[in-house]
Amino acid sequence: MAAERLSKAQALRLDDPAIRLPGVGPDLMRRLGRLGVETIGDLLCLVPLRYEDRTEARKLGTLRAGEKALVEGEIELAEVVFGRRRSLLVRLADGTGGITLRFFHFSRQQQAGLARGSRLRCFGEVRAGPTGLEMVHPEYRSIAANDPGPEATLTPVYSTTEGLQQGRLRRLITQALAVQGDVEDYLDGLLDGDWPKLTDALRLLHQPPRGSDLRVLESRRHPGQRRIALEELVAQRLCLKQSRALEAAERAPAIVADPALTARFAAALPFTLTGAQSRVIDEVTLDLARERPMHRLLQGDVGSGKTVVAAFAMYLAAASGFQAALMAPTEILAEQHAVTLGKWFAPLGIDVLLLTGAMTAAARRDALAAVAGGEARLVVGTHVLFQEAVSFDHLALIVVDEQHRFGVEQRLALKDKGGRGGRMPHQLTMTATPIPRTLAMTAYAGLDSSVIDELPAGREPIQTIALPRSKRPSLVERVAEHCRTGAQAYWVCPLIEVSELIDAQAAESLHAELCAALPEMRIGLVHGRLRNDARDAVMRSFKDGDVDLLVATTVIEVGVDVPNASLMIVEGAERMGLAQLHQLRGRVGRGERRSTCVLLYEPGLSALARERIEVMRRTTDGFVIAEKDLELRGPGEVLGTRQTGIMELKVADLQQDADLLPIVVEISDRLEREHPERLAPLIRRWIKSRADYAKV
Ligand code: ADP
Ligand code: MG
Repeated sequence: MAAERLSKAQALRLDDPAIRLPGVGPDLMRRLGRLGVETIGDLLCLVPLRYEDRTEARKLGTLRAGEKALVEGEIELAEVVFGRRRSLLVRLADGTGGITLRFFHFSRQQQAGLARGSRLRCFGEVRAGPTGLEMVHPEYRSIAANDPGPEATLTPVYSTTEGLQQGRLRRLITQALAVQGDVEDYLDGLLDGDWPKLTDALRLLHQPPRGSDLRVLESRRHPGQRRIALEELVAQRLCLKQSRALEAAERAPAIVADPALTARFAAALPFTLTGAQSRVIDEVTLDLARERPMHRLLQGDVGSGKTVVAAFAMYLAAASGFQAALMAPTEILAEQHAVTLGKWFAPLGIDVLLLTGAMTAAARRDALAAVAGGEARLVVGTHVLFQEAVSFDHLALIVVDEQHRFGVEQRLALKDKGGRGGRMPHQLTMTATPIPRTLAMTAYAGLDSSVIDELPAGREPIQTIALPRSKRPSLVERVAEHCRTGAQAYWVCPLIEVSELIDAQAAESLHAELCAALPEMRIGLVHGRLRNDARDAVMRSFKDGDVDLLVATTVIEVGVDVPNASLMIVEGAERMGLAQLHQLRGRVGRGERRSTCVLLYEPGLSALARERIEVMRRTTDGFVIAEKDLELRGPGEVLGTRQTGIMELKVADLQQDADLLPIVVEISDRLEREHPERLAPLIRRWIKSRADYAKV
């Protein structure tokens, strides 16, 4: 059997479908499909996001909190303790020191395997815990007599998809690496100088040998990565050119604004537009009046008032007899928008229809009929808007809020819902993740974008304070005082990131702790493991003022508007990125009260973490923060799909690889002229629309 498998593997070719690999069935293929993998060679083109060094076991005595490490040792003690929650503690020692492994979930069988005296090799993040240094749910393996020792190569970490675990994907790629042959090189014959061969670059990046410089790889300066970056940038450029050419031919319904309409809308609002809002509204008005579809990105910091710009555009569409749709990433945001727009439009006599997954079948049927018949002019909804059952009568405008939550395909599906007489709807996309100006100039020249760079008047600036964790007890009292005045607060727990499950557990225990300490307060809890409806219910009670304090994981990051919440505590701030901290902080400072954001950190900050916290203390300007983020992290990540969804760069880094751009231009032009047949497969290799952007 084994021999047969081997010979079968030898007979495989890289351009065979991946389903021919042993152990791959239709189910797995579907998941791989979400990563754009069809052939075995496609697996090799999944370039690692980062690496972990498991090539050498660290002496336990040298470990420090915060690092990820491979360790080995003998089990001195294994016991189940019943604290706030039952957990299995395993004490590991190696003569130089010790560490505790902590498991909240464990099977009887697992427990039996972790007996005193046996030797283990573990990989995980070292944390300071109640018993000293700990690893929570590490990956581990018993060390048998014939153990081959630690890994010979760095361990790659891939971007994966729901239902496909890192380890499984890693094994699949190892299988693919065993298949002989070269990955098709579409730049063959076009490169001068000593660029590594594509196949060699890819093979090396999947398995960098022990001793490879992790820093070079992580900062993507390795020659192999540069070779792949070059190819990816060529593919991006070609793709951009193609879509521009297609767009140039598209037609949209012209929505012409009558100045009287503009005045009526402004008069109906409960506030005066800021200068920035008026300017952006003018830009959008000009776009809508054209027969070419608008593709405008609206950037504006959290709380800058993007919604009213969207509302205005939707109003123009409705007033001209068209339909407009606004798509939000969650039910609660959709509901929030529907309520807000409803209020603004009521004096103008226009109804807003809310379409979400939570509706009853009958309500849904009526809503769908109203959308299809065109009576519903303004429709607000979640992703259900682009389901097949939804058809519009005359959709002329799509607004997408917080676009990074949507996949490219979903946006395309909604776009297809326009098109009466072959006309496409206009598109306005709102994002609170500012694209740094420096990047906007290099990467997005040509993309229409508007910026709201002014906050509504009368906002009190948010005060940001950084405190070491030792000050935490005094905060509990402070929160109580705060809420006694009728204000509300958020308490965000540290990001553990081992898994959503563990994050949820951390949130649960923080919730239990605060409930015990503050029995008179109404304390809510949200985390990523809650079902959407349960999460929405908690958010709604918080919004309605029925909950004083909301304990949350970072799931509250996106767009919820609770003006009465004016205190935010962020634990483990040193572990969060700038963009994330900024988004979190943006949940406060939305009302009349002066808001405070407290960043709690674990002492012993790295230089980078110290700088991030310092930036947060110094400024609340999203653009300044984005620039700083760019400087500290590099644009590859800042522009990651998760954040903006505009350009998905997997390997290339626009700032660092800027020197490649002239070569990129030259090679793309030559490809178009000399090898037009290579364009489609090259673009397909690097630009795959993925419905699912799950984190690793
Ligand atoms: P975001 O840009 O984060 O989506 P919103 O559109 O939700 O911001 O606006 C934040 C808050 O500011 C809302 O409560 C909104 O009603 C209010 N707002 C918007 N524009 C103005 C303005 N010009 N003057 C006063 N308040 C405003
Ligand atoms: Mg918003």
